[in-house]
Parts: sequence; C-alpha cells; structure tokens
Amino acid sequence: FITRLISTLQGIKTSKPQPAVEPPLLDNYHHHRHFPAGTLRTDPTAVSAAATDYGHIVHRRPAAVLHPSSVDDIVKLVNLAYDYNVVHNHNNNSTSAGLTVAARGRSHSVRGQAMAAANGVVVDMMRLRSARFDKNVNVVVSSKPPGPYADVGGEALWIDVLEAALRHGVAPVSWTDYLYLTVGGTLSNAGISGQTFRHGPQISNVHEMDVVTGTGKLVTCSPSTNADLFYAVLGGLGQFGIITRARIALRPAPEKVRWVRMLYSDFSAFTSDQERLITVHASRKQEHDTSEDRNRNHGGGLLDLELDYLEGSVMVDRGGPPSHWRSSFFPTSDAPRIVSLVAQHRVIYCLELAINSYTNHHHHHLDTELERLLQGLSYVPGFAHSKDVSYVDFLDRVRGGELELQSRGLWEVPHPWLNLFVPKSRIAEFDSGVFKDIVLRRNVTTGPVLVYPMNRNKWDERTSAVIPAAAAEEEDVFYTVGFLHSSGHEGWEEVEEQNREIVEFCEGRGMGVKQYLAHYATTEEWARHFGPKWTRFRHRKSEFDPMKMLSPGQRIFN
Ligand code: FAD
Repeated sequence: FITRLISTLQGIKTSKPQPAVEPPLLDNYHHHRHFPAGTLRTDPTAVSAAATDYGHIVHRRPAAVLHPSSVDDIVKLVNLAYDYNVVHNHNNNSTSAGLTVAARGRSHSVRGQAMAAANGVVVDMMRLRSARFDKNVNVVVSSKPPGPYADVGGEALWIDVLEAALRHGVAPVSWTDYLYLTVGGTLSNAGISGQTFRHGPQISNVHEMDVVTGTGKLVTCSPSTNADLFYAVLGGLGQFGIITRARIALRPAPEKVRWVRMLYSDFSAFTSDQERLITVHASRKQEHDTSEDRNRNHGGGLLDLELDYLEGSVMVDRGGPPSHWRSSFFPTSDAPRIVSLVAQHRVIYCLELAINSYTNHHHHHLDTELERLLQGLSYVPGFAHSKDVSYVDFLDRVRGGELELQSRGLWEVPHPWLNLFVPKSRIAEFDSGVFKDIVLRRNVTTGPVLVYPMNRNKWDERTSAVIPAAAAEEEDVFYTVGFLHSSGHEGWEEVEEQNREIVEFCEGRGMGVKQYLAHYATTEEWARHFGPKWTRFRHRKSEFDPMKMLSPGQRIFN
C-alpha cells in the first residue's frame, strides 16, 4: 500500500535528490542534505533514521518518511491514509493493521513513541522546521487580554521560541529543562520543569492550536472553539491530531537569574522546605511585580523574591563525585566536602531555586533578600551556593552538558528513563523504599535523579494529561520523580530491572503513582493508567482519529 500511497500523493515528490541548504542548528540532519522538503522517502537512510530515538531501546522501521515542506503536505498525507483505511476497512477492530502515521518531533522520546512500524509513515517535523527559515515563530506583544503571545509551528523547538520572544523582551512562562524539544512533542505530554509549581505545565499555557486530526482535517481549536479537541490534544500523546501551530502565552522576560543550590541530608527537611516555598510563591500573580508591589509585599522574607523555578535532585553514594549533565554547579573546591557528605549519609538531596531579576536596581537587593530566604531553610549549614546568570543561560543550562557528553560519545547511548508522579502523602515512603533501599542496593543509577513538587491546581483536569489522584481533598501537591538514566550499550537491562522493581514497589504498596512519559505494552495497562479518564480518552479517539492511525508508537490503540 505504500507504493500505492506514493503514487497517489500528488504534489509530494518521492525521493528525488536535490541540493538543499541546511539550517545551522541540528547538524545530525546532514544525511538528508540532498533531499528537498516535500518528499516522501523510502530509502534506507531515511527509514533507518526514523527507526530510533533518544532512548536507543526500541527500533522500528517505518515504510516511509515524509519530509513535509508545508502543513498542506501533512494534511494531504493524513487524508490519503485515512481514505485508504476507510476503503480497506482498517481500524482497530479489523484483523490486519491499517496504515498509520506518526509525527516525529525531535524524537527525544525514549520508548519508540514517535515511531511507526512497517505499515506506517513517519512525518519528520524537523524537516518542516528546516524548510522554514523564519523558524515559524510569530510574536505578538499586546497589553490587551490574553497579553503577549507567540504563534509557533508544532515543529519549532523551544529554543526557537525563546530566541524569537526575547527579541521583543518577552518569553514563555513554563519550560522544560531542555530546550531542543519540539513544541508539538512536549504539548503532547505536558512539558514540566521547575516553573510548573507556579505556572502549571506547558499545556496550561496554550491559548489555541491548529491540529490535523486523524480524518485529515485542519482544525483550529481553543477553550472556546472546538474545545474538546483542544483539551484532548494537550497531553494527548499524539493520539488525536498533529499539532501544526500553537499559541503560547508569554510575559515580560527577566534580565538575569539568581540560581541557588543547597544540600540536605534529611529528606523530610528537604521536602518541607520545597513544599513551603512552592505554596507561598505559587499564589503570586504571573506578571513580574513592580518594585512598589514588592515593597508592599512582605512575607517573612519569602515573598520579597520572585521565585520562579524550584527543582530538587537526589545524590546517591556511588563512590565518587557525580558526573552527569546536571552535576557541575558547586565550585570544584567544594567537591571533596560534597563527596564526603554523600559518603556519610549515602543519599543526599539538592534543592535548586531560581529567582528572577528584572532590573539592575532589583538585582542589587537580591543579596539581602536571598540571605533572609536562606535563613529560613533547613539545608546542611555551609552547603548553599549561588550564582548569577543571564536568563538565556539559565533556561538553556542543559545544552552545555549535552555538547560535552556528545563530544565524549555519551549522548547517543541507551536511556532507560523512568518518570513518575508520586502523591505527596507517599513521598516519604518512596524515599525510604526506593532511594534508600532499591537504588542503593542495586547500585546501577547513572544520570540525574530529579524530585520536586508541583501544585495540583495548576493542571487542567480537562486535558488528557494524567496526574495522581489526591489521597485526601487537602492534598494539593504531588511530586515528580525522574530517573534520567544513561547507560552503556550493555548495561541498560540492569537499569530496566531496577525500573521494574521500583514500579512493582509502588504498585504493591498501592501508592497511586502515575507514570509521566508513560509506556505500556497493552491496552489494559493504558486503561489502568488513565483510570477515570480512560472512557473519555477512548471516546475522543473514536471522534478525532476513528481509524486509529496516529502515533502508533504509544501502543495505546495499536
Ligand atoms: P517526540 O519524541 O518526537 O514525540 C513525542 C510524541 O508526540 C510521539 O508520540 C509523537 O508521535 C508525538 N508528536 C510529536 N510531534 C507532534 C505534533 N506536532 N503533534 C502531535 N503529536 C506529536 N520533558 C519534560 O516535560 N520536561 C523536561 O524537562 C524534559 N527534559 C528532557 C530532556 C531531554 C534530554 C530529553 C531527551 C527529554 C526531555 N523531556 C522532558 C521529555 C520530552 O518532553 C518528551 O520526550 C517529548 O516528547 C520530546 O519532544 P520531541 O519533540 O522529541 O517529541
């Protein structure tokens, strides 16, 4: 059917090599230099490139890869695939698999979520990005509601959005730790980072989208127009349509950031400080306060600062200094003290804050305000360090580590990641059963281990994203825990064993933990994952992608 599809795709040329100019940013696309956008490719280079992802665990070769030159190419492909499946009566109830279509953003999924198998076509969104030299980010600065925003292609990277927005003195409010991910890819999950406690995930900061649904229609949706599609797509794991444009909320960008890390040996002190900080600061309004506001706004030191980011991480004794893309922060002269703190306690915790600074005048006062803030916290005395960095350097902080790992050949390795959302009421039990038992005993953890809280009320229940149920009505916070493992090509199965033990531990204790960036093999497991949202999720699937063609790599309906 691919041969037939190719012959039917009028206007989309098939692999016809031609010289094309490459954009400078993502050089791993050099293999495709001779293929213009607007091409359906079936050659081994294109097919192999689409058969892998950042995880390097799952490998699936699609039948073909579309390099779109425009949204129209995507509409055309999905339309033809839909018609093909209708004519051949292929949906999930038929015995043979129909034709599938998978949008592939930056392919930074770790379990094949952006792949398609031999009956599928991958839509390479990065090629659409290359085809658009303006990077497809249109910033509108307005003081009228909804305020400044950017219309952004689903294929744009968050770094593109940042660079374009900063030219107007504005920036998105909610981020991921790493900016070389596509807007369409992160909005299909949630998009979380240290700003989530205050502004919600990225899916809480979108005004409108254009989506190519599974019936091949290009639909504009928002909370007031085609609202069901809008909420389905946000956190929808690519199941309902391909995002081709998103309207992202912006606000004035700070000039600088005071970036602080503190070490804790006591988990309960660490989580109490985290929870207190996010509770106080989440209630502040979104725009940066004026200095008059700040003068009025006294909250025992805590409220005088614009705390805009809070994360935490775990350091486990592995007999040496930690070495990964988040580890360089404290001065190198502190390394021996930190190593001996880890050796003494076996597990220690790092609380990380970022405080926005808008003017030099305000920046000048940060020292005193920060000192007051630190006095109220229970970290190990002597283990706090801060530095001032530009806003861009702060947001793009992972890039340096990435480039270093790339230069050592340690970026393109298996990444058996495990990301969990843990109810606040069970996080202490998680610490003792997982960090202090499973992780120490198995001794296979490499890469950062993140743990930080988020406020439940910043997540919109109408989206497809799944968060843990509150154990009690007043449980307003839950934690994200991310084991961002990178292993050798040989060692990842051991890490998978650890992941399995952690998941079984949580399930065995009935902790109500949910996976983020979840991956399951069966529909039953997905139904359990979605819990009360499953019926609506299925209903939305039959409405927006009745042939069950889209994002088959999630293995929900395929
Ligand atoms: P892909 O992996 O290409 O696609 C993900 C899914 O979305 C697939 O099912 C795909 O079919 C679908 N999809 C892709 N594009 C579209 C589209 N335009 N419309 C509809 N569906 C689409 N996540 C966080 O939340 N916070 C973080 O801080 C964070 N940091 C990360 C750091 C690194 C180094 C890496 C590798 C990942 C990180 N992630 C983080 C996870 C990341 O958000 C997800 O893996 C996300 O899917 C990556 O975006 P992508 O463009 O690579 O999407």
